[in-house]
Amino acid sequence: TFISFEGPDGAGKTSALTAITAQLAPQLGDRLTVTREPGGNPISESIRSIILDRANTAMDYRTEALLYAAARRQHLAETILPALRADQLVLCDRYVDSSVAYQGAGRQIGETEVAKMNEFATDGLLPDLTIYFDVPAEVGLRRIQAHRDPQKVDRLDVEKTAFHDRVRAAYLRLQTAHPERIKLIDATQSPEQVVAAALALIHQTAHA
Ligand code: C5P
Ligand code: MG
Repeated sequence: TFISFEGPDGAGKTSALTAITAQLAPQLGDRLTVTREPGGNPISESIRSIILDRANTAMDYRTEALLYAAARRQHLAETILPALRADQLVLCDRYVDSSVAYQGAGRQIGETEVAKMNEFATDGLLPDLTIYFDVPAEVGLRRIQAHRDPQKVDRLDVEKTAFHDRVRAAYLRLQTAHPERIKLIDATQSPEQVVAAALALIHQTAHA
């Protein structure tokens, strides 16, 4: 079973994933794979460092989208597909929907174009379930300012609220277009409520 975690910056998806892992790991042991993209293997990590290197200010938005897709492909081939073949539960922090939202809508390359490119990169493989942590841009941004690394604060100054509004709007459009796959959680709730809601969705899907 393949489950992706999605959401705008500051939605709390990464902390939720940590709490969920702590809950599931004792039962599942090595039948659980928790991973994040871009990254998870040497090639994808190298690509990630190119994308995140603040010195690369000249990076074209389509170059960025292609690099995310390339890192995704390698992560799929090296980590996700082998785990799925071994019948594991795979929890992945970000996947294709992140590119549609961030590169397609945030960077305004076009959601359809980015989706098509990622269809090539993934050979059309989509998660069985995508948990979308929904939070208004201002709430997410305020949370990030409260506690975060300087690198992200820098990115924020450049990207601003309009960018994050576009990202969230794209996620909501994706959720409306794929209601069977993408389930929304109100991430303005308490961390405990968010984790409980996510666990309920995971149990439904993993036992289906
Ligand atoms: O998942 P996490 O919050 O660590 O993502 C780090 C940042 O990478 C995001 O906030 C976003 O700015 C950026 N990102 C992106 N496009 C993606 C995935 C992540 O711009 N496809
Ligand atoms: Mg995160």
